[in-house]
Amino acid sequence: MSARLIDGKALAAQVRSELAARVAALTARGITPGLAVMLVGDDPASAIYVRNKIKACEETGIRSYAIHLPATVTQQELLARIRAWNADINVHGILVQLPLPPPFDAQRVIESIDPRKDVDGLHPENAGLLLLGRPQLPSCTPAGVMRMLEAAGCNPAGQHAVVIGRSIMVGRPMAMLLLAADATVTLCHSRTPDLSAITRQADILIAAAGRRGLVTADMVKPGAVVIDVGIHRTPDGRVVGDVDFDQVRHVAGALSPVPGGVGPMTIAMLLHNTVRAAELAVDAARGRGVQSASD
Ligand code: NAP
Repeated sequence: MSARLIDGKALAAQVRSELAARVAALTARGITPGLAVMLVGDDPASAIYVRNKIKACEETGIRSYAIHLPATVTQQELLARIRAWNADINVHGILVQLPLPPPFDAQRVIESIDPRKDVDGLHPENAGLLLLGRPQLPSCTPAGVMRMLEAAGCNPAGQHAVVIGRSIMVGRPMAMLLLAADATVTLCHSRTPDLSAITRQADILIAAAGRRGLVTADMVKPGAVVIDVGIHRTPDGRVVGDVDFDQVRHVAGALSPVPGGVGPMTIAMLLHNTVRAAELAVDAARGRGVQSASD
């Protein structure tokens, strides 16, 4: 048996072309969606992620406002920049590239972002809406995984979904989105005893532990849909995930690769959230009686 490949790269291209049409419609009405991106310090991986996000914005017609601050910037200066973006009507989405170098208080920085512009979906207000089953701007990676399941023809309703990892950015919001889609969800973490006994029951298995090759073939139920969120660079320069791809593909029914799986979909959903935030801002302005250039 060989698993069907869930091609995140092709799906992301499709999402982006749908978004480009929505961006064009907004731009025709005098509103160009804008994403502000903040990079702090000199982490090379973060710099690459930010570059890719800005490039994706340009390709979709979204205006980007990028700022690179030195690690020596004060928390006050950083918060002042976010306040300025919160007040800027041309900025519809704000993203602070994580992790922030020490000693910044990432939680405080996230909480300073206007929740209506929190396109990473990490503000407590957006996390709370997700918990209530009313996601407004859901976290990008889990939202991307939901699109991948849909594209693979996998309806989570009534299925047992197992998520490995309980981080604020991936595991927890992933579990909430699957629950909202009527899956029976089990959330595993580093203190879960006998992980494989649980993963073997999964109809849908999401691997987001950040442990290279953690999910081996014997941990997967035959025919399961497996999504690999992990990203790791090997000493010889290859990019691999949390799943042992070469073995698991003989057991799973469908499987996402790394690279070319969740990564491109995370960026596509960031663009999606930015366009959505711009559309919501337009609706809110209309409700207040504020007119756009072409109204
Ligand atoms: P994280 O904050 O380090 O969280 C990892 C989670 O996995 C924690 O909840 C941890 O449990 C759990 N875990 C660790 N080892 C485990 C084990 N052996 N068995 C079961 N659970 C285990 O990581 P993250 O930010 O969620 O990211 C996870 C992975 O996804 C990383 O490889 C990251 O690079 C990747 N990622 C990819 C994308 C993308 O766009 N493709 C986006 C975000 C993240 P505890 O809570 O008990 O410590």
